[in-house]
Amino acid sequence: MPVGEDQVQHLELSREVARRWNQRFSPDAPFFPEPAALLTKSRRIMGLDGKAKMSKSLGNTVGLLEPPEAVWEKLRPAVTDPARVRRTDPGTPEVCNIYHLHSAFSPPAVVEDVAVKCRTAGWGCIDCKKVLFETMNTELAPIRERAAHIRETPRLVNDTLEEGADRAAAVAERTMEAVKARMGFAE
Ligand code: SF4
Repeated sequence: MPVGEDQVQHLELSREVARRWNQRFSPDAPFFPEPAALLTKSRRIMGLDGKAKMSKSLGNTVGLLEPPEAVWEKLRPAVTDPARVRRTDPGTPEVCNIYHLHSAFSPPAVVEDVAVKCRTAGWGCIDCKKVLFETMNTELAPIRERAAHIRETPRLVNDTLEEGADRAAAVAERTMEAVKARMGFAE
């Protein structure tokens, strides 16, 4: 199940419930699968202030649907490795949130190049941010387009939600029948 690092503990609760129920009512063949956490390598992205995780109330976020100019206005002053006081000071990419954003948005070759140039003071942080801005735009453009299309066709959202709810209800009904049967509550 795709979750953020913060949700792993909630998922663990589901795993525990599934495990205990299986032990008690379906010991020979587990009925409920234990959901496993699917974490990406960018499991936690800090806010642009580099102090806390992204939070709207802290004003340190960058919105996926924000226009490119607004994204750049946020990236430009974002906190980087404090060791890079001067352009000639080498940095440590792992302590820099811009590097972690590169890991989430940029192709692997670019991420590698960013790390080398950071460690060797091969470029300045603003150069690094400009490249990030470009790769973010490449990734976000189709998402922005899709969001604009959905905003223009709200019926599409309602139809999709209704269709999903119908499918989920049918699956839930079948599951509950099987659960009741295993627990001895069959009608
Ligand atoms: S060069 Fe890039 S990764 Fe290194 S400190 Fe500056 S912004 Fe961060």
